[in-house]
Amino acid sequence: MSRTLHLAEQLIAQRSVTPEDGHCQALIAQRLQAQGFTCETIASGPADFRVTNLWAKRPGTGARTLVFAGHTDVVPTGPLEQWTSDPFVPSHRDGKLYGRGAADMKTSIAAFTVAVEEFLAARPQPALGIALLLTSDEEGPSVDGTVVVCEKLRERGEQLDFCIVGEPTSVERLGDMIKNGRRGSLTGKLTVKGIQAHIAYPQLGKNPIHMVLPALHELATTEWDRGNDFFPPTSFQVSNIHGGTGAGNIIPNSVVVDFNFRFASVSTAQELQQRVHAVLDRHQLDYELAWTVGGQPFLTTPGELVGAVQAAIRDVAGIETELSTTGGTSDGRFISRICPQVIEFGPINASIHKIDEHVRVADIEPLKDIYRRVLEHLDRP
Ligand SMILES: [Zn+2]
Repeated sequence: MSRTLHLAEQLIAQRSVTPEDGHCQALIAQRLQAQGFTCETIASGPADFRVTNLWAKRPGTGARTLVFAGHTDVVPTGPLEQWTSDPFVPSHRDGKLYGRGAADMKTSIAAFTVAVEEFLAARPQPALGIALLLTSDEEGPSVDGTVVVCEKLRERGEQLDFCIVGEPTSVERLGDMIKNGRRGSLTGKLTVKGIQAHIAYPQLGKNPIHMVLPALHELATTEWDRGNDFFPPTSFQVSNIHGGTGAGNIIPNSVVVDFNFRFASVSTAQELQQRVHAVLDRHQLDYELAWTVGGQPFLTTPGELVGAVQAAIRDVAGIETELSTTGGTSDGRFISRICPQVIEFGPINASIHKIDEHVRVADIEPLKDIYRRVLEHLDRP
């Protein structure tokens, strides 16, 4: 059996529903220690939400370091009776390996671990330093995971040059898409106040629903930016509106509107916030607005890392990969604060978070080979 497949199965067999790690990180640390890595476990979070993080590093003879990043936690299984086989018992059917985390992202972790082993077997003293950053808090709130490790590394002045996050980015064929950035996410909770009254005496009240609608229309039809070569234009979407007492004869005294921006790197969270306040003020609303920045956008423009990954995919899979910044936020947003070049690349993502999650067995060796080729391409003084 392929060593990567075997390790992927070992990882899938660990019950690591977020924020649990099972024993995934210990398993990886053991393998890496045998390769000369220094492994450090960084636990974080309260006792009832304990997150396990692993930082493993092996210096090279040169100054540059490549980090493989990923998460050992998985999303909950959903209804067990709908799974064809136990989500924590790796199972093979029709050339596919089934199990929770098969695609998101235990196979990637197995692949880059074995890629590192093979690379070091062939080049025991590489110029390239190699590190792994694993967390068990990616599928949850993501407050005790990668962000904590990155903050620690920043304090220590640790220098990182390249990062590959093993998130499943392929669409139809292994290697057909990589992410060279992600949009930012900015959420607002808007409360507009009015005056409650009997609906038959509107002159005694002030209807906050009526007052907020023209402002929302303006926000929903504003062109926030035009995006750029790598990002689509920033989008504004309302996700929830709550207003009214439930009674049919009352003008309510407030309405609450939740909205979210997915924003391109050409806009900043601060600019968007200012522009929203300007619209609300112009409509003379009496309001409160609470903001949450879910993630800043990041972008890695084509350069050495993108080139190395494109070349590795060409070498192994024989295809030209597409650069994309679509999809939700990822831990790349934290790593990009301390590492100038971050990309995401992993297996086909069609089944992630679903019942009967799987990865194609025929993709597992090539995935490992692509990661190994990237190491070879970047291993220069
Ligand atoms: Zn993932």
